[in-house]
Amino acid sequence: MKPITIKSIQLYPIAISLVETLRTSFGEEPFKSAVLVALETDGGVVGWGESSAEVNPGYSYETVGTAIHVLNEFLVPLLLGKTLQSATEVPALFSGVRGHPMAKHALEAACWDALAKTNEMTLAEAFAAHLPAGHTPKGYATVGVSIGIKPTVDETVAVIGKRLGQGYGRIKLKIQPGWDIELGRGVRKVYPDITLMLDANSAYTLEDTDHLKQFDELNLLMVEQPLGHDDIYQHSKLQPQMKTPICLDESIQSADDLRLALELGALRILNLKPARVSGYSESLEIYRICVENNLPLWIGGLLETGVGRAANLAFASLPGVTMPCDISATDRYYNPDLTEPPFVLGDHSRIATPTAPGIGISVQMDRVLAANKRWQAEQVYQHSSLG
Ligand code: MG
Repeated sequence: MKPITIKSIQLYPIAISLVETLRTSFGEEPFKSAVLVALETDGGVVGWGESSAEVNPGYSYETVGTAIHVLNEFLVPLLLGKTLQSATEVPALFSGVRGHPMAKHALEAACWDALAKTNEMTLAEAFAAHLPAGHTPKGYATVGVSIGIKPTVDETVAVIGKRLGQGYGRIKLKIQPGWDIELGRGVRKVYPDITLMLDANSAYTLEDTDHLKQFDELNLLMVEQPLGHDDIYQHSKLQPQMKTPICLDESIQSADDLRLALELGALRILNLKPARVSGYSESLEIYRICVENNLPLWIGGLLETGVGRAANLAFASLPGVTMPCDISATDRYYNPDLTEPPFVLGDHSRIATPTAPGIGISVQMDRVLAANKRWQAEQVYQHSSLG
């Protein structure tokens, strides 16, 4: 591998419109926000990364504001001027900074992209180079689609029909207390056989066990993160009481968390979001643990723009990712995206991975600058008692 030396790093906080806002048990985001990282090497190659932190500390404690602060003040200075043979060297450079996985992920992802481009490899090939032989990228990822909370069962059923018509082979519904079992029963009446799962985003407690056990009648692929966002122990008490496999999302922040969850029997499926676990180096470790333990694995999404979506697709094309991923086609979320060409859904609910080096798609600078301007204009963290 040809090494890179990091010459400059530019941060772009952005705001762009979503085609359709996604309501979850946390509420609704007014627009998609992110911090894009453009990292330039001494060879003139630009690597891109994305921090998926939102405006509000809902899914994660990180926000756009914390990401900019931690990147600017602490993480970027640790990386500038450094020479890297591999992006797996990045976590050690950041070891003095606690937490802030999404901020770390954005920089590490930009290093993966810059190194892969420098060495004329796709990102998927760069990931596979750190895995045992036989983990050759498939050239595509199998994907599903996530549907937010709608006002009625009928509206949910209508959206499911539309998504099935577009070719999505797995449907995930966001749920919350009071909007779960009746929704599931209503959907199953119309679609008894579709591949269906529910995502609770940690909206329940162990006291809801009897209620949650009713999910077993719905023939679900899995239920995602029913209990506390940082809980592993209580999930280990719930899983043996349910036939439906529990998939953990929020509470697995590292490979060590996964080892603990496996030891306790807290999950039967893992949703891995590379941004949630500080990046692709930790993701590769988690991938290896899943393979060793035959734990079904899929890659989740945080409504990434094309920058983050391309990199996650590359990871999702690795053969140890065995279940449909939350990486929908571009037109599900953005029109237009910040990158070209858009990702389109192909046959068998698959999206092909780009074949060009690195993330393999081209970032549209005019759109990034416009989205950056919109972020400034939104004045998100500015307040006045005068209204
Ligand atoms: Mg989830």
